[in-house]
Amino acid sequence: MILDIVQLGHPVLRQKCDRVETIDEACETLVADMLETMYDAHGVGLAAPQIAVAKQLAVIDVQEDDSTTYLKVDGKDAKLADLMPLVLINPTLTFAGEKERDTEGCLSITGVRASVKRPAIVIATFTLLDGSTIELEANGLLGRAIQHEVDHLNGILFIDRLSSVAKLKVKRQLAKFENS
Ligand SMILES: [Zn+2]
Repeated sequence: MILDIVQLGHPVLRQKCDRVETIDEACETLVADMLETMYDAHGVGLAAPQIAVAKQLAVIDVQEDDSTTYLKVDGKDAKLADLMPLVLINPTLTFAGEKERDTEGCLSITGVRASVKRPAIVIATFTLLDGSTIELEANGLLGRAIQHEVDHLNGILFIDRLSSVAKLKVKRQLAKFENS
């Protein structure tokens, strides 16, 4: 089922999400609906608060990506295609590498794109839908998508991470959301 994606100005986007305590059938259905919603919206990631569910749950699919040149699961080299789509439950992150700039957008802030500086490598620990917990290290688009989605679970949006110049550039576009 395709769900409604909430837009900037909705309070759920600013909430700190609760941990997922049990992975039950309802959780599996939610993940399936989130994936369907993300594909329908042509996004590469979607976090539960974006469909008004304040839970630490996100989905990512960056299958068509060649920027992720560094990818390990539990310390071993991994293939992107084998991991996608990725379901992240209760993720925690640490970071490595220099900070890099790249353009980001968000399905909850449609039409706004801006350059965001983030660490080049993310080390993410999270639970999968089958209940197992993995440690994933990635750079490139996957590393960036993980950081963007996990930010959502903490009530943080990519527009919070813009430089003052970049923020000025999108100020007028953002005002439309806040007033709606
Ligand atoms: Zn987003």
